[in-house]
Amino acid sequence: MKVCDASKTSVVVAGAGPAGLMAAYRAALGGAEVTVIEKMKRPGLKLLASGGGRCNTTNVLSQEDFMRAFGRHGRFMNDALNAFSRNDLLKWFEDRNVKLNCVDGFHYFPVTGSSVDILSALLAACRQHGVKFLFGVKAEELLISDGAIAGIKLDTREELPAQAVILACGGRGYSALGGSSAGYQLAIQGGHRIIKTVPGMVGLKTQEDWPACCAGISQEKVRVSIALKKYSKLNFTGALVFTQEGISGPAVVDISASVNELLENNQTVPLKIELFPEKSADEIHAMLVKLLQDNSRKKLLNTVSRLVPNALAAVLCDMAGDRTDVSNAAEIKSAELPGRVFRELCSILTDFNVRIVGSQGFDRAMVTRGGVHLREISPSNLESRIINRLYFAGEMVNLDGPCGGYNLQWAFSSGFLAGRSAAACKKAAGN
Ligand SMILES: Cc1cc2nc3c(=O)[nH]c(=O)nc-3n(C[C@H](O)[C@H](O)[C@H](O)COP(=O)(O)OP(=O)(O)OC[C@H]3O[C@@H](n4cnc5c(N)ncnc54)[C@H](O)[C@@H]3O)c2cc1C
Repeated sequence: MKVCDASKTSVVVAGAGPAGLMAAYRAALGGAEVTVIEKMKRPGLKLLASGGGRCNTTNVLSQEDFMRAFGRHGRFMNDALNAFSRNDLLKWFEDRNVKLNCVDGFHYFPVTGSSVDILSALLAACRQHGVKFLFGVKAEELLISDGAIAGIKLDTREELPAQAVILACGGRGYSALGGSSAGYQLAIQGGHRIIKTVPGMVGLKTQEDWPACCAGISQEKVRVSIALKKYSKLNFTGALVFTQEGISGPAVVDISASVNELLENNQTVPLKIELFPEKSADEIHAMLVKLLQDNSRKKLLNTVSRLVPNALAAVLCDMAGDRTDVSNAAEIKSAELPGRVFRELCSILTDFNVRIVGSQGFDRAMVTRGGVHLREISPSNLESRIINRLYFAGEMVNLDGPCGGYNLQWAFSSGFLAGRSAAACKKAAGN
C-alpha cells in the first residue's frame, strides 16, 4: 500500500463524470488529498456528449418544481440542491469564464454552445487544487475495515488507501461513453441494495410497423401518456419523432423509463399519443369539418396533409379506413367521406394508441432508472448508512430526471455535497 500525507484526509473518487469531478474539486477545496480514478482513457465522455455536445447544464425551475420532476423520491435532493443550487452552478462556471445563458426561457447552455468548456473548467478547477487523476484504471473493490472505508482496490491490483471514498460511477447507459454496472457492483459489495435498473431517456419500439413509413417526421407538440388507469397523471408534452423501429423525441424519452419498468412484467405497454394536445375533441371535430368543407374536391389524403406531414396523413387515413372497413380511405374525395370514417378520423386526431414492445436499450439510454437505494444514503451528507465514510454522487443513486438539464444539475449538486462531506469526515470522526 502507498502511504499518503497523514495530515490530510485522503479521498478517492471513482468516476470522472460531472458528479465525480465536482466532488473531487470540492473535497480538494476542503483540504483533502484527492485522487480520481476513471476507467475510460479520458474523463467526462458522457458530459461531452450531453445536449448534443452543447450540454444542457440546468434549467430555470424553482427547487420545489425541480425536485417534483424527479418523482416521488425527488425530495431526497433537497440538501444537495441547497448546498449547490442552480444559481451557485451558474456562478461557479461564470467565475471560471464559462457563461451560461437561457435563450428559450427554460434550458441553460454554455454561451459558446460547447460542452468542452464545461469539462475544461471542471478539470482546471481540480488541477488547481492538486487533484490527481488515474485514467484507464477501474475501481474494482472497496477496502472496508470495521464497517468503515479503508481504501479501494484497482483492476491493476494496486490498493489505494483512503479515509473516504466517493462513488460517482454513473449509470448503465451508453457503454461507449463509460456506462456500465461497475458502480453498482461496488455498492453491492458494500452491502447496499440496488433498485432494479431499466433504460431511461431512450427511444421506444412499437408493435406496429407503420412508424417506419414516417421515419424522420417530427411533430413539435405532442402529448404522450401510458394508456393505463394507474398512470393517468403521468404525461409528457413535447416533440415526437417517428423512427424505423417506433418513436422517439423528448416527449417519448421522458416517459420511456416508466414504460420500460412496465415492460419488465408485460409484453406490451399501450401508449396514448395526442397529436393536438391543446385542442379538445370538439375543437378537433370542428377543425376537421371546416377542412373537409374547404377542400371538398380534394382527396382525403390531401386534406389531412394540411394538418400533419404527408406520410403521417397517409397512415392516419389508412388507420381510419381499416377501423371502419373502408378500403383506400385516403383516395376518397373529402365531400364524399362516409360519416363513420369521418368520426374515426376525428377520434384518431384526438388520440390514438400504439403498443410499445421494447426500447433501444441501455446502449442508447441517456439515463438509468433505478440504482443505489436512497434509504441507505443519508441525504444531508450523501454518506452511506452502511459503510462509514463511503459517499455517493450522481446518476448511480436511484434518481433520474427528464430531459432538460435535470440530471446534470443533480450530478453537480450531489458531487459538491459529497465532496464537501468527504473532506470533512476526518474532523467529524475525530481522527
Ligand atoms: C447522449 C447523452 C446526452 C445527455 N444530455 C444531457 C443533457 O443535455 N442534460 C442533462 O442534464 N443530462 C444529460 N444527459 C445525462 C447526463 O449526462 C448524466 O446524467 C450525467 O453525465 C451523470 O453524471 P455522473 O457523473 O453521475 O455519471 P457519468 O457522467 O456517467 O460519469 C461516471 C464515470 O464513472 C466512470 N466509472 C464507472 N465505474 C467506474 C469504476 N468502477 N472505476 C472507475 N471509473 C468508473 C465512467 O467511465 C464514467 O466516466 C445525457 C446523457 C447522454 C448519454
